[in-house]
Amino acid sequence: MFGVVVVGIGIAGRVRIRDLLAPLPSSAPEKMSVKGFISRRTLGDEQGVKQISMEEAVEREDIQVAMVCTENTFHEEHIRRFLEAGKHVCVEYPMTLNYKAAAELHDLAQQKGLILHEEHIELFTPDFKQLKKDVAGKTLEDGSLHFTGGPLKTGFGFLAFSGIARLTWLVDLFGELSVSGAAMVEDKEKNYTKMTVQLQTEKQKSIIWVEERGPNLPRVKNINFRFDSCSMTELPNAPREPVGLFMQDLVLFGQKLLGQLPPAQLQAEQKRVLHCLQLAERIQQLSETTA
Ligand code: NAD
Repeated sequence: MFGVVVVGIGIAGRVRIRDLLAPLPSSAPEKMSVKGFISRRTLGDEQGVKQISMEEAVEREDIQVAMVCTENTFHEEHIRRFLEAGKHVCVEYPMTLNYKAAAELHDLAQQKGLILHEEHIELFTPDFKQLKKDVAGKTLEDGSLHFTGGPLKTGFGFLAFSGIARLTWLVDLFGELSVSGAAMVEDKEKNYTKMTVQLQTEKQKSIIWVEERGPNLPRVKNINFRFDSCSMTELPNAPREPVGLFMQDLVLFGQKLLGQLPPAQLQAEQKRVLHCLQLAERIQQLSETTA
């Protein structure tokens, strides 16, 4: 059994505790047992799980795994602390708010023989799974992905990092990308931000990624992909699946802990994670120079 501590009790942290307490039957998370949680607030008890201190979590030998569910600005410090203490880490996306730290943390995990997993629930949505099937075998001519949503909470970082799920979709659909331009529009008084990024596929096809956040914007993704044979202007509407998104991610993480996944799959995933963080950093640099 792997003893687990959950760090940060927001939306994600609560779901993690819920899933750890009731794992999918006959799945890898049945080998995980939640031992406590860490919070900056004094919460005492969450779903019957006890609050413990960071010091206790890193020292306890019956805790081998940390699930980092804090705001993005804290991820790097928490991951480092747990890896240095010899614990496996699952972190909610984005792993860090800069590429260099993520690469260092991956190296640290490798040196210590530990799993460092970045959650990507957006790859488990039924809509995305269907989209991936629909895109397979088609040749992209150009495309766009436009995300809108409410204002970003503090501590979630630059838009290219907080929105890494959209970038991950694009890389998973169309392969490695490069950044040819990026610009930001910001109205602090209105709590409004818009990032527009020009990406290119390895075949030099253009993809525009827009991340737009403001008080009255609905949480929506709009796509417009033009292929040689057809165009897609709407996301597929696939039926809900019985297993929740965070549970699917927990199964993947559990399989990594149990050594059940082929090395080639692990390497491809690590490459994708680091590639997306590198793109996000490049986008941030370009946006800052054009601001
Ligand atoms: P959240 O705002 O609910 O919680 C974030 C942090 O804020 C937690 O550490 C929590 O301890 C703290 N917090 C929450 N309520 C608080 C309060 N009343 N007072 C003081 N502190 C409080 O954010 P979240 O949605 O849980 O996101 C956490 C991480 O999960 C982020 O890295 C995010 O990118 C990632 N993530 C979240 C989702 C999701 O569906 N919520 C999906 C994918 C990834």
